[in-house]
Amino acid sequence: KEEHVRKPEWLKIKLNTNENYTDLKKMMREKNLHTVCEEAKCPNIHECWAVRRTATFMILGDVCTRACRFCAVKTGLPTELDLQEPERVAESVRIMNLKHAVITAVARDDLKDGGAGVFAETVRAIRRANPLTSIEVLPSDMGGVEENLKTLMDARPDILNHNIETVRRLTPRVRARATYDRTLEFLRRAKEMQPDIPTKSSIMIGLGETKEEIIDVMDDLRANNVDIMAIGQYLQPTRKHLKVQKYYHPNEFEELKEIALSKGFSHVEAGPLVRSSYHADEQVNSATKA
Ligand code: SF4
Ligand code: SF4
Repeated sequence: KEEHVRKPEWLKIKLNTNENYTDLKKMMREKNLHTVCEEAKCPNIHECWAVRRTATFMILGDVCTRACRFCAVKTGLPTELDLQEPERVAESVRIMNLKHAVITAVARDDLKDGGAGVFAETVRAIRRANPLTSIEVLPSDMGGVEENLKTLMDARPDILNHNIETVRRLTPRVRARATYDRTLEFLRRAKEMQPDIPTKSSIMIGLGETKEEIIDVMDDLRANNVDIMAIGQYLQPTRKHLKVQKYYHPNEFEELKEIALSKGFSHVEAGPLVRSSYHADEQVNSATKA
């Protein structure tokens, strides 16, 4: 029988659902929009949607051409490209009165531009309809093609976020197609293209990495001029996904945060419930001065 590491108390959070939240979920279905907040059953949804006024939209469909072993998004061959989606996202951002909108997308390896065109148009549409809302983009590597990244950076998001997800050694086991070095290169190039736009990257811990390996990730991100880092606990979305090897104590997250800050990141979020988009509203304008 397989050993299961027990979930500690600090991760047992009750989902807080109020009426407002139910209305917003209904609107998402009506507009045929997807949010990571809902799909990943994110424990922060109440705090984010109602209090901080942040949400993470997942555009370009809900079927991904990749199958990362930590991720609950369905894998398959997406069929459509919805050119009206940018306007619907922009409208939802307005209805939700968001201060900060995070836009992510499934990996569309079936599209020549990796979805960069619709992604960039979504940034522009949100900007037009919501000039005061800050916009963070969290793309896949879009095939590692420089032109695709340029299309997105030219739309001038407020934060470019691209996740390294795990330590170097575990990357081939955890991620599909993406490589550790390609991720670093993507982040470095984004910074070269638009030096004043903060770059950000996150890892999930609890997959069997060592502390030294986590510190190596910090050094590698800084060496590629990444400004913001987020560190959160990996949680297994279903039994088919990778098992949790360790639940880190909040004190260990505190220690990692201190170490990361000493490496020169302008902003670090670290904690059991920290997700790539957690407290993102605080991170705008935090490019490190080189
Ligand atoms: Fe959504 Fe991110 Fe907030 Fe979770 S942390 S509810 S995914 S915005
Ligand atoms: Fe999930 Fe992104 Fe991997 Fe697709 S590329 S399986 S959406 S983590």
